[in-house]
Amino acid sequence: MDKQEKIKAIQNRDNKYDGKFFCGVKTTKIVCFPSCSSRTPLEKNIELFDTLEEAIQNGYRPCKRCKPDIKTKNLKEEK
Ligand SMILES: [Zn+2]
Repeated sequence: MDKQEKIKAIQNRDNKYDGKFFCGVKTTKIVCFPSCSSRTPLEKNIELFDTLEEAIQNGYRPCKRCKPDIKTKNLKEEK
């Protein structure tokens, strides 16, 4: 998965990618699922992470709308 594919997934709010990578927004320091219904950030403000832990270590907080902290656990349990 390259960066362009990830950016596209965010712009399309494609929920197939949920849990596969996370989208951090530099301006708000919030980390989201790709399919989050919050406003799509500008590409230059997007920081991509492979794991939620990585985002949190970089000072990001899980989004209150798409709740990646709670749902990631659920996604793992489904597998
Ligand atoms: Zn979100």
